Amino acid sequence: MNAIYLLPLGSADRSIIAALGPQLERRFRASVAVHEKAVPIDSFTYVFGEAQLGGSVGVVSYYRLPNERYGLPANRTLFTERLLKEAMHELGHTFGLLHCRALDCAMHISTYVEDIDTKPAEFCRECEQKLILAESKP
Ligand SMILES: [Zn+2]
Ligand SMILES: [Zn+2]
Repeated sequence: MNAIYLLPLGSADRSIIAALGPQLERRFRASVAVHEKAVPIDSFTYVFGEAQLGGSVGVVSYYRLPNERYGLPANRTLFTERLLKEAMHELGHTFGLLHCRALDCAMHISTYVEDIDTKPAEFCRECEQKLILAESKP
């Protein structure tokens, strides 16, 4: 079984990250643990996330995910959905998935927060198949 470790960076809210655990466990059929100590970093660049393709490390930033960043009313559900989609996207890369052209896929690329909202927190059938193949490799 694959293991996914979530590491809160800087002043990231540990509870927000911990809430991703069960969702990611189900979608990646992996054990998910939150690292106990926050990793200090100096600054964020404008990315929702980055990951090593087929590697073991990915990073997701929730800094630009809340509605309040765009002068809109707070929406916790939407925020949580966006974070889950981005975490799935970056983890998907670490499992070897590339960007997907399907609009109904978490591996579809997102440049703006609106792009995140238009895709589901699920992988398309093709990416799901690749994920299963990646998991069955030693
Ligand atoms: Zn990507
Ligand atoms: Zn896909």
